[in-house]
Amino acid sequence: MPRIAQETVEQVAAASDIVAVIGSYFPLKRAGTEFRAICPFHQEKTPSFFVNPSKQSYYCHGCGAGGAVFQFLMQYENVDFPEAVRRLASRGGITIIEDALSPEEETKQSLRKRLLRLHFEAAAWLQSNLLRTKAAAHARSYLQDRGINIETAKRWQIGYAPNTWDSLVRWGTAAGFVKEELIESGLVKLREEGNPRSRLYDRFRDRLMFPINNDFGEVVAFSGRVLDPKAKGGKYVNSPETPLFSKGNLLFGLHQSKRFIAHARQAIVLEGQLDLITTFEAGIQNVVAPQGTALTARHAALLRRFADEVILFFDADAAGQRAAERALEVLFSAGLQVRIGEMPAGEDPDSLIRKLGSDAFRARVESAEDFFDFQVNQESSAAESKTTAGKVAFARKMSQFISVVPDLVLRDTLISRLASRLKIPRETMQQMVHSSASQIPGRALEAQVAAEPQMAMPPHKLAVICKAALIVPNLLREIRRQPWKSILQHVDGAELISKIFASALEPGETASIAAFFASLPKSEAAMLSLLLADKVLNEQMGQLYWIQLASDELQRRKRQLESVLRLTGDDLAAQQQANEELKEVLDLESWFTDISRLPSPGREQSGSIQ
Ligand SMILES: [Zn+2]
Repeated sequence: MPRIAQETVEQVAAASDIVAVIGSYFPLKRAGTEFRAICPFHQEKTPSFFVNPSKQSYYCHGCGAGGAVFQFLMQYENVDFPEAVRRLASRGGITIIEDALSPEEETKQSLRKRLLRLHFEAAAWLQSNLLRTKAAAHARSYLQDRGINIETAKRWQIGYAPNTWDSLVRWGTAAGFVKEELIESGLVKLREEGNPRSRLYDRFRDRLMFPINNDFGEVVAFSGRVLDPKAKGGKYVNSPETPLFSKGNLLFGLHQSKRFIAHARQAIVLEGQLDLITTFEAGIQNVVAPQGTALTARHAALLRRFADEVILFFDADAAGQRAAERALEVLFSAGLQVRIGEMPAGEDPDSLIRKLGSDAFRARVESAEDFFDFQVNQESSAAESKTTAGKVAFARKMSQFISVVPDLVLRDTLISRLASRLKIPRETMQQMVHSSASQIPGRALEAQVAAEPQMAMPPHKLAVICKAALIVPNLLREIRRQPWKSILQHVDGAELISKIFASALEPGETASIAAFFASLPKSEAAMLSLLLADKVLNEQMGQLYWIQLASDELQRRKRQLESVLRLTGDDLAAQQQANEELKEVLDLESWFTDISRLPSPGREQSGSIQ
């Protein structure tokens, strides 16, 4: 992946007025020298979200969100830093300068671009088939029966693939796409597999077509639902794996629902596309559906970016139960909490909403039980649970799930709670969890690695903060007045940075820097001088990254403690301890969001804090 040039980042920052950017997402009201709005990051009735034009920053008194224009995009659109820069650049009409691509990368990129174009145009063509052709009358009436009107069909870009062998081949060729592109897209197949000279035919015939979008809303694949119940082939046919599409990486609906999921910190996982569309349109919008496959570790990691908790609504049949059990392991491994939603026999969310309205489904969401409670309740009504052997087998099964939970505190809480509910000694339960964990090291580890990246601060940013602390005159003084020790105590790789903050070093003064260097072990001194010499690290970003680090770290700790609190049940001592820690985090948070303390590069060094 080529890196965005530093000049571009600076140019983009200069060209992106924070009031204009945030104002393009939702209306801002002037309030004195600032602007205010209802906070998009937490639920509230009176606005506590402020945008400050002179500081080019935003902050929320309610939930502690805050930062500069890049953070806003990262938080609101749930994208990483480079992507936030790209989006702001295209908004400001700034050309992104990226390091040069190798010829292979160049080819790959241009194929990707062509395939995106092809999918974009194909979606429009398929939709016009659905809306305008006679041949799609049965598809339209099917949608009508399912309660999906024209507006909804348009919003989800639902289409129709004609019942012929080569409609898409002919359309694509006429639209200027070459044979290789059509084959690579997976929308057509070769009549003789492996023989590029053989003729092409359409993969999707007489099917209702649902575009599958990536995170940015680009169409990258299709899912076709059968219309003729007697037709051969599966109920759903998906695009194959292509350079654009890997079904284990994408969740249907996420590009529309991620904002709602992030807002609720909760994702409702449904089985099918139509369930998802009906539910979303009925106003329950924090929903996703895996692409007709089991949830993968990648899916779980993706959900973890937006949510702390997942509610599973799978079919009550055996296949649905197996899918749910498989899902649990990856969800727990990613550090998500899981609740199980139950449906009345014979209903799915789509049919329930159409019969009884959205409140009926909403009630099901609210009454969804925590996975472990759900299991224990089910088990205690089963006959086997009366025998010791049955009880042990059940405890063993549960301990497997607990063993993949990455958070140690949470794992401990679960062990205590389950032991007391099953009336077995805590040590025994702990032993079981321990031995389950050692049986599946590869599996658990693999899932954890996939789930990890969003937790750690990129070392690049820590490096920038280090460099900035040594060079930018006011930054270090500013940070030293802040509760930085409490922030950094759980941050990986923050040893050197802590030493700098704790030192007597005077930034910008050569003699003082040299003295500090002399106090360091050789390896750290070498690392630091490398950082200082590195022209790519822009120290101007140091302050921004520091605020971001503090706020990310506090959010992370808050979420973790809230999970613990939710699961401590009636363990009063554990609850009290978690509450005390939470109070500490909240105090820190209000410290950082107090506007009078927001560091500003322009402000003179007065030495006083109100
Ligand atoms: Zn807020």
